[in-house]
Amino acid sequence: MIEHIGGGALGPLLTDPLDGSFYVVRGRRRAVLVDTGCGRRPLRPPAGVDTVLLTHLHLDHAGGAAALARAGLRVLAHPWTAEGLRAGDEERAGLLQARAQGTYPPGLRLVACPSVEDLDGGTALDLGGCRLHVLDTPGHSDGHLAFLVEAGRGRRTLLAGDLIFAGGRVVLQPLPDCNPDRLRTSLEHVRTLEPDVLLAGHGDAVETGATAHIDAALRYFEAGAPPPQLTWPA
Ligand SMILES: [Zn+2]
Repeated sequence: MIEHIGGGALGPLLTDPLDGSFYVVRGRRRAVLVDTGCGRRPLRPPAGVDTVLLTHLHLDHAGGAAALARAGLRVLAHPWTAEGLRAGDEERAGLLQARAQGTYPPGLRLVACPSVEDLDGGTALDLGGCRLHVLDTPGHSDGHLAFLVEAGRGRRTLLAGDLIFAGGRVVLQPLPDCNPDRLRTSLEHVRTLEPDVLLAGHGDAVETGATAHIDAALRYFEAGAPPPQLTWPA
């Protein structure tokens, strides 16, 4: 079972407007939280959750990790993301530029999380009747992970972070670790896994036929142009 418990102004607005969407994946034995929002308002650990998995280092996804670690949760991330988060590296997180552009208010910081542990792509977590596969999906940023959740009746859900959004949209930013070619390769990889459901880090959920949304993005690449950007509300 997957619960959508947080999200910001890119919709649906559930918590802080600056939050990316975050989700609880609940198996029979244990539950994990995928992403944390920006951390501007303290997030209480959801019931039964013992571990936080991060898709990537950007503040709207990882900013709440330090507070949850202090509350006793394990925090796991790709080694590149983990290294940045242990140091509170705001440059690696793209936060210096985002702040200069006015995306975030000046006082919002990436709080270092010294206890974050490395999580490698290709591994899987058994939550009890539900397996969560860890996928290396760089492109939007380095150290980006997505998670494929396989539950009953073969239903496959892609927790995509900022890899891809409903309608085949993407987010490509002028940051040194953003790479459209790597994004395309990551999309080609997740397409082979044939997800049914797409739960992204922003925007609408896709409840069926998620592969069609990945195909839509790949068609743009095949035509020689990156897919359309997810747009922020004015
Ligand atoms: Zn991002």
